[in-house]
Amino acid sequence: MGFVFGLFLPGLISAKSEQVVSYEEAAALNSPETGAETAPAEGDPDYGLAFEVLPGAKSYDGPALARSMPIETKEAWLSWMRANRNDNPACLEKSWVLAQDFVHTSELKRQEDVRAFLLAPREHFVRESNRGREYADTWLPIGYGATITDPDVVAMMTTTLDIRPDDRVLEIGTGSGYQSAILSYLAQDVYTIEIIKPLYIETDKLYRDLEKTYPSYGGISRKLGDGYYGWEKYAPFDKIIVTCAIDHIPPPLLKLLKPGGIMVLPLGPPQRQYIMEVQKDVSEDGTITLNRRDVYNGMGVKFIPFRDEMGSSHTAPGG
Ligand code: SAH
Repeated sequence: MGFVFGLFLPGLISAKSEQVVSYEEAAALNSPETGAETAPAEGDPDYGLAFEVLPGAKSYDGPALARSMPIETKEAWLSWMRANRNDNPACLEKSWVLAQDFVHTSELKRQEDVRAFLLAPREHFVRESNRGREYADTWLPIGYGATITDPDVVAMMTTTLDIRPDDRVLEIGTGSGYQSAILSYLAQDVYTIEIIKPLYIETDKLYRDLEKTYPSYGGISRKLGDGYYGWEKYAPFDKIIVTCAIDHIPPPLLKLLKPGGIMVLPLGPPQRQYIMEVQKDVSEDGTITLNRRDVYNGMGVKFIPFRDEMGSSHTAPGG
């Protein structure tokens, strides 16, 4: 284990958990050749906090790559992966087993989602201290109190979104970057927001390093900020995935969701949430109807809290 990491991604997964990087250093990471940096101007609600990386010319057809990958048999898949990737063979074996498990449990329902899952190398998004557990079906700490979500929950939430290649997808809670890496094989237009600055910076750097081998990560637009308010500039979104726990559906996110769009989120108090699918329907007279479904059949999950910039939980308007 580990020889491939050392070979072509030296030091990438090292946990720099307590390192705090200044805004200037962070902004310097957004070099022009890797994406346009738009530091928010004075008057912008994100002024002083957020900065963004947009893919611009980096956009890449991840869904087309996924379609070109054979998955009829493990042998066909492995030989395609060997020809196109330099992934750790032991990790490939484990990834295949996990994907098959999730197909059997219906946590991965569509072929597209199986392909996207198989294309995202979870080993690059797990911290070095958890080597060997990359494909364990559990969440793992990634520093700053954040976690990389369990692969089965990631699979289920991804499948629930029913993503089409031309969908515009927004993720709240970039964390390790693993969820958006999967999304980048389902749609070309992926946006993600993270509120913890050093974590945002680590993951931004990870994507920059990985995009040489996995070009669709260069197409993931990312921003530091409070995801409660979404990313209005690029709204509306066809799909929104929230990966931090909240006890209500954030109204600003609902507003940025297209009619007919789907949001998936861990809904409930901090101790326990349910994975809810929310479909937004808008009738001709403008009436909005929300169709809610518990996609995990009443099973509880525990995500890390959806916090505001002061570190408190977001409370429901009027609540
Ligand atoms: N999708 C991530 C899960 C990370 S855990 C992954 O695959 O690794 C949840 C993440 O949500 C944490 O990184 C946390 O910092 C982030 N988060 C919490 N509140 C947030 C907010 N208001 N806006 C954006 N991100 C937030």
